[in-house]
Amino acid sequence: MSNAPPHDVTVIGAGLVGLSTAMHLLERHPRLKVAVVEKDPHPASQQSGHNSGVIHSGIYYRPGSFKARFCVEGRAAMTRFCVENDVPVRTCGKLIVATRADELPRLDLLLERGTANGVEGLEMVGSERAREIEPHAAAIRALWAPGTGIVDFRRVAAVYLDRVRAMGGEVRFDTRLSRVVRRGGETVLETTGGEVRTRFLVNCAGLHSDVVARMMGVAPGLRIIPFRGEYYTLEKEREHLVRGLIYPVPDPAFPFLGVHFTRTMKGYVEAGPNAVLATKREGYRKRDFSPAEVIGILGYPGFWRMARRQWRAGLRELHRSFRKSGFVRSLQHLIPEVTAEDLAPGGSGVRAQAVTPGGALVDDFRIEQGPGTIHVLNAPSPGATCSLVIGRHIVDLAERSFGLE
Ligand SMILES: Cc1cc2nc3c(=O)[nH]c(=O)nc-3n(C[C@H](O)[C@H](O)[C@H](O)COP(=O)(O)OP(=O)(O)OC[C@H]3O[C@@H](n4cnc5c(N)ncnc54)[C@H](O)[C@@H]3O)c2cc1C
Repeated sequence: MSNAPPHDVTVIGAGLVGLSTAMHLLERHPRLKVAVVEKDPHPASQQSGHNSGVIHSGIYYRPGSFKARFCVEGRAAMTRFCVENDVPVRTCGKLIVATRADELPRLDLLLERGTANGVEGLEMVGSERAREIEPHAAAIRALWAPGTGIVDFRRVAAVYLDRVRAMGGEVRFDTRLSRVVRRGGETVLETTGGEVRTRFLVNCAGLHSDVVARMMGVAPGLRIIPFRGEYYTLEKEREHLVRGLIYPVPDPAFPFLGVHFTRTMKGYVEAGPNAVLATKREGYRKRDFSPAEVIGILGYPGFWRMARRQWRAGLRELHRSFRKSGFVRSLQHLIPEVTAEDLAPGGSGVRAQAVTPGGALVDDFRIEQGPGTIHVLNAPSPGATCSLVIGRHIVDLAERSFGLE
């Protein structure tokens, strides 16, 4: 009887990135034995199921970065995938709105970046044309990105999951990885569902990717700091204020896009998200607090260096979190007619933001390799849009470094 480990590759995490990786592994290598280990009871339970649902087109990102390269391709791939798999998707376009003269140079820069990145159809529009696109937005000038779309990423994850299973992949839910040991020539994963024996590992653990990397003996050189994004929803009778997606010109010093209006495929209009430091990695509510995790954050030198650089933005975000009036004021820059009464509390998401020991917020996707392992250490927005392309990229890496036939 062969004593080979029952799995060739085990992926940690059934978010969009982990499931896409498993799907592409099996598509290219149908005989490979692939497992996915997920601690929660269903797919896309963390970032992949708590996001804005925007299929980004690739405007914001530094040319040449992974984000820039993956997003343009990722948008096209995601839109096609949804159409082919009956996942409702709508290419509604996005209007990035400058409301003050000092934002105009940054809007020009966005057009330049988007064009350099190969985003098609971008158009700088004046206030009149902006009003035709979004009649209630207060633009003095705007960048129109007609290719941006919306989707419910949970439905995308459900299709990834079906395909993984249909190709023979094993997906274990309610199975938390707690320790990794090397035994003989194999890697043994100790989980809440018993041992899983495997040859190779891919870490797609999102908010816990640094912890999982360390379990596998890899020093990630960064720490995941959780940032909660809180949303409001627009009251039904005010939804006509938003046709598609209305975004502000982002603050270049901050990796988040700023609170925006998003028409969703779930049938309502969202406003948000802000970006506040969360006191727990899965801290979806203000009251969620983990003493051990807070001590971990406070003991990380990178946190203090980040705080020194970003304290102004941090305070602004905190104010917006605790004072609805602050949130509403930000939204009124985009649509002056919006009032506090138009907004009901909505959901939230928690971003896994990698921070270096020097205090820099890692902007680009970061994927590292260890012996027999690959680690997705930073996959923030537009990671959902790019999930098909990231999965393919990980399989390219795996073929080389795991020597997959
Ligand atoms: C508020 C917000 C808004 C966003 N908006 C957009 C958007 O509009 N468009 C876009 O393209 N992107 C957006 N993003 C980014 C996008 O959601 C992420 O890039 C993407 O979901 C990352 O997927 P993932 O698979 O890496 O992580 P996750 O979805 O977080 O998956 C990681 C999985 O690993 C599991 N896991 C962790 N530790 C363990 C363990 N020890 N054992 C077993 N399982 C474990 C977790 O339970 C989780 O299911 C947004 C993100 C947030 C938070």
